[in-house]
Amino acid sequence: MSTDSISRARLADLTARELATFADRHAGSRAAYANADHLFGRVPMTWMNKAAGNFPIYLDKARGSRITDVDGNEFVDFALGDTGAMAGHSPEPVVAAVTARLRNGLATMMPTEDAAVAGAELARRFGLPAWSFALTATDANRWAIRLLRAVTGRSKILVNSYCYHGSVDESLIVVGPDGRGASREGNVGAPVDVTMTSRVAEFNDLAGLERELAYGDVAAVLMEPALTNIGIVLPEDGYLAGVRELTRRYGTYLINDETHTFSAGPGGATAYWGLEPDVVTIGKAIGGGVPVGAYGLSAELAGTLSGRDDLDLVDMGGVGGTLAGNPLSMAATRATLSEVLTEAAFAGMIETATAFADGLVKIIEGYGLPWSVSRLGARVEYRFASPAPRNGTESARGADAALEDFLHVYLANRGVLLTPFHNMALMCPQTTPADVARHHEIFDAALKELV
Ligand code: PMP
Repeated sequence: MSTDSISRARLADLTARELATFADRHAGSRAAYANADHLFGRVPMTWMNKAAGNFPIYLDKARGSRITDVDGNEFVDFALGDTGAMAGHSPEPVVAAVTARLRNGLATMMPTEDAAVAGAELARRFGLPAWSFALTATDANRWAIRLLRAVTGRSKILVNSYCYHGSVDESLIVVGPDGRGASREGNVGAPVDVTMTSRVAEFNDLAGLERELAYGDVAAVLMEPALTNIGIVLPEDGYLAGVRELTRRYGTYLINDETHTFSAGPGGATAYWGLEPDVVTIGKAIGGGVPVGAYGLSAELAGTLSGRDDLDLVDMGGVGGTLAGNPLSMAATRATLSEVLTEAAFAGMIETATAFADGLVKIIEGYGLPWSVSRLGARVEYRFASPAPRNGTESARGADAALEDFLHVYLANRGVLLTPFHNMALMCPQTTPADVARHHEIFDAALKELV
């Protein structure tokens, strides 16, 4: 049995049936979508059109691991705002901290003491002493990139092929068919040819990384310690140590983007694998659902940057945002880190995710499908390829949009949400073994009909 042997005609028939059910079950969402004439693409942000059911499900309310939509359908939510709600939807300590802040000033151009507590907790977890805040992980990456260009005087940033670090210009590069860097397909309005700003290597390819670093013009490697945006691609033994050794040898700084790999544990993949990056960037989950981003710098970098009088870090030099570090984000981040995404919470989430992954493997093997399951702490993803892909390009080849959409709609019609853009399931502190069992029962039923 291979994925190729799944009948495409049967897949199309089943998908048509499921789409009709979806339209019936979501009349309110359908109407809301039809009434949004003055939104570009009918949605608040164009990516919300990534909806397997042909239109988005509209939110009524969400709490813990559950979402209720405007039609009254209840879902077990494994998308969790793709990581923005890894702490669960509207966690009580965050609601309390944010509510207390709401009546007392939201945008004042003054720091609050919450930021120092959040910074200290991030320092403890990720091992980097000096933190600064943004509103998105994208901005954290952008500002980190600027700082490292300034410190090194080098122009290029190196990323892994098929990475995602937000809408960062430098990151929209892939390894092309000829083995050289090329613009990522669909790249919107690139300011310059991306090969002028960036270099690229495949994940798990130290020889390819060294070849690019040897040009001597790379200010920083920006990477996820495991790729999480093209399925989950885990590092092979020795790879991350090799990256650190090579970046040191070639005078290149190393940024770990922990926005998603934070799922590995309380100190993300950095603590889990004992990594020593110069900079960590993060966002999403640390705000418990409230917008925030952050970057942490090594003592060496913080010292060097503080001594650079030629850099305008205070006003218009290109690093900063008016609402960055605002009181609401800081209250939410402090509460999330101190009271919600604790060591104990991670232990439970990872136990639940392990059960999710083990059950998934059993079902997939039961149907003899050549698919693979990867887990990083509280995050689990399956790919239509086996063995598990070793890099982004291999993983991209394993994509199957029709199959993915079918599974997403089938699950949604029976009250389970997976992450759009992925076959990803994330666990929050409130995700239960019963939630996992519910997913598996429906997933099994979908495969029984399909295979
Ligand atoms: N880094 C990584 C690894 C991400 O996965 C994402 C978003 N998926 C970002 C950065 C950007 O986050 P944001 O959209 O909050 O800017």
